[in-house]
Amino acid sequence: MLIIISGPAGVGKGTLCQVLCRENPRLHYSVSLTTRSPRPGEQDGINYHFVNEDDFMAQRNGGQLLEWANVHGNYYGTPARLVEQLRKEGRDVILEIDTQGARQIRRNTNDGVFVFLLPPTMQDLLKRIHKRGADAPDAIKRRYANAFRELEELEKYNYLVVNEEIEAAVLNINAIITAEKCRVSRHRTLLKQLLEEGDIDDLSLHR
Ligand code: 5GP
Repeated sequence: MLIIISGPAGVGKGTLCQVLCRENPRLHYSVSLTTRSPRPGEQDGINYHFVNEDDFMAQRNGGQLLEWANVHGNYYGTPARLVEQLRKEGRDVILEIDTQGARQIRRNTNDGVFVFLLPPTMQDLLKRIHKRGADAPDAIKRRYANAFRELEELEKYNYLVVNEEIEAAVLNINAIITAEKCRVSRHRTLLKQLLEEGDIDDLSLHR
């Protein structure tokens, strides 16, 4: 299963993904490529693969990115190879990406689960971006303005989770994962096996 988490800057996507991966050993966080500079405390290969623009473009032009976007003036992209390998192994992968990237994934895959994370209020979001203290004033303004633009994409997502308390948001996303795993469409092989046991050849599997 491919789980896509989007939402405005500062809403807490990073922390949420960390907790989710800690709680679900089968869930793998896809580390993105970015041309933005590391923030204090961020580690190369853990938070992002920090690359320069030439390296990023080389990977993009070589078709090595599953999706990519220019967000807040920097490039971000998902390395395709690891995601494809993990999915072949039957692992669940979580992508923390912006709405432009989500649009590309929606076009190219049919089993993505799209979750949009929202703050309780936009004022609360602004406070969180300030409190993070990681961005210069003009970057804060850009991120806050982009948040309103990103909200326009909300209708294209499957689920909305409000991140007021991290524990409650994690519970909601775990519930979404559980429900998605129970979808009939994800169990076609099992259904086929069960039907074959009864040797019923002509029963439609598409109901
Ligand atoms: P930040 O610079 O705050 O870490 O991330 C800025 C934005 O870029 C966030 O909305 C984040 O979800 C998005 N982002 C991070 N990695 C990727 C990626 O690989 N692809 C896309 N399209 N967006 C990403």
